Amino acid sequence: MLIRLETIQESPFRWKETVEVKAADVDMPELVELGPISWQGEVTFTDPDYYLSASYEYEQVLACVRCLTEVNDRVEGEFQLFLTQEKVPNGVGEIALTEDDLGYVHLDGEEIEINDFLNEQLALNVPMKPQCRPDCQGLCSECGANLNEGSCDCDKKPVDPRWQALAGIKQRLDESH
Ligand SMILES: [Zn+2]
Ligand SMILES: [Zn+2]
Repeated sequence: MLIRLETIQESPFRWKETVEVKAADVDMPELVELGPISWQGEVTFTDPDYYLSASYEYEQVLACVRCLTEVNDRVEGEFQLFLTQEKVPNGVGEIALTEDDLGYVHLDGEEIEINDFLNEQLALNVPMKPQCRPDCQGLCSECGANLNEGSCDCDKKPVDPRWQALAGIKQRLDESH
């Protein structure tokens, strides 16, 4: 949604809408699917800057990093930003604030695309290593069986003693480094 800043100087701009964003566009490999995102907020003129405040909620489907099972996750959040046409103070010797610290966004031109800010949030809300449950057992590296659903036969096979000897040598080598 493109907003003309000029119009906000007279009265705050408010919105409430539902948007669809493709999971692929968020560019996070753990994100499988994104539900419709309902979000709302307002932009007010705080002479000479603008202040944006928004909240959102939606559902996302994540892939467990260990067993690849899909996990439904409900997300709710909010964010606030200062939109300024001034140069953001972040130089050495000036007030030591970076853009990120205060949520400053430098405005170029007379219009802002507020959906860009929402899209940033979508990426931030994908956890680093999602797991279906804290004690997920993952997949068997031999046969690919989901070990949460029971153990496979792989670890029941007796280990060949020759491999065991090799493994012992490798371990000693690793330890000596
Ligand atoms: Zn899992
Ligand atoms: Zn197995």
